[in-house]
Amino acid sequence: MEKLAIDGGSPVRSKMLNYAHQWIDESDIEAVIEVLRGDWLTTGPKVEEFEHAIAEYTGAKEAVAVNTGTAALHAAAFAAGIGPGDEVIVPPLSFVASANCVLYLGGKPVFADIDPRTLNLDPAAAESKITSRTKAIVAVDLCGQPCEHDALRALADEHELIVIEDAAHSLGATYHGHNVGTLQDLTTLSFHPVKHITTGEGGMVLTDDPELAGRVRSFRHHGIDLDFRERSRANSWEYDVVNLGYNYRLPDINCALGIAQLERLDQWLTRRREIVARYDDGFSSIAAIEIPFAIADCQPAWHLYVIKLNIDKLRTDREGIYKALRAENIGVNVHYIPIHWLSHYRGLGYASGECPQAERSYERLITLPLFPAMSDEDVGDAIEAVVKVIAAYDA
Ligand SMILES: *Cc1c(COP(=O)(O)O)cnc(C)c1O
Repeated sequence: MEKLAIDGGSPVRSKMLNYAHQWIDESDIEAVIEVLRGDWLTTGPKVEEFEHAIAEYTGAKEAVAVNTGTAALHAAAFAAGIGPGDEVIVPPLSFVASANCVLYLGGKPVFADIDPRTLNLDPAAAESKITSRTKAIVAVDLCGQPCEHDALRALADEHELIVIEDAAHSLGATYHGHNVGTLQDLTTLSFHPVKHITTGEGGMVLTDDPELAGRVRSFRHHGIDLDFRERSRANSWEYDVVNLGYNYRLPDINCALGIAQLERLDQWLTRRREIVARYDDGFSSIAAIEIPFAIADCQPAWHLYVIKLNIDKLRTDREGIYKALRAENIGVNVHYIPIHWLSHYRGLGYASGECPQAERSYERLITLPLFPAMSDEDVGDAIEAVVKVIAAYDA
């Protein structure tokens, strides 16, 4: 058997393969330079152009650009009317921003367990956490695979809840023939460089409800009721602050980058799906590995490729596999530490044991590199390294 790099053998590749990476080409650079040479650096024509382009792509009626995915969640939670005393059901296996948005508004995140097959919020677990104080559900499409949105929608309708879909991973996915962005009351996107398309930092809130969109627009601009152009059309200096808002505006510079990136999104999604198919193929016969489970009648927008280790078939744990793969120069990662385990959340009284499926799953997860600019050789290296490391620790 080949000696592992962690034991002094030679690594599968000489240069680290990151788990994610943006793809910037000349058209992106040109688009940004054009804005720099123009009159507007921040709120100008590129903002609306980007919003319209995303609205058209997803089919959402309204799109509001903000300066991070976190701001999008904050604004969506605000638009949903979340305030002190309100409970919001959140999955524990997500990036911390999915729950922080509730805390920002004085609400209480209530963690409901996941379906261990998909790692997404389990509608039955969500239902079991509904109380008279529940106001909303944050549904995270983990790894780019849509949640069970029909079941969550039915639950929300029955209990008059708002559903915020955190689609930071799932731009471009479809669920039962419908696009992400049209499935729930509010949908949030992130344009961080690891996500499907990037604006450096950036985010967007999508909705079909003009009133919710208006609340998001006001929230991103200090809670002011009218925007600058409406005021200048009215030929008046007057403005009023109707809510406590923030400066969450996304500059024209960033929006120009987003518009250029969106042109290639479909191509990139196709490439991501190709890589996923190659990974699935490479690992499906390995007993110590469970490949991602895909629900029926969906087209995921694979953002992360997360395998589950069958630890009982290995002579090491997840950390052992993680370190061995890093030594082979495969930049694996782990998504995510259960949110209720994080110190700030423990300090608020959350404790381990609350979501046993998420906690047990977490111990088994490893994220492999996945981004459209990966070459076939990169994909081959990742597969080779996983096969090599798993074979070395085969129980
Ligand atoms: C990236 C991400 C966010 C936050 O987005 P930022 O643009 O980094 O603020 C929120 N939720 C999930 C699930 C994410 O992956």
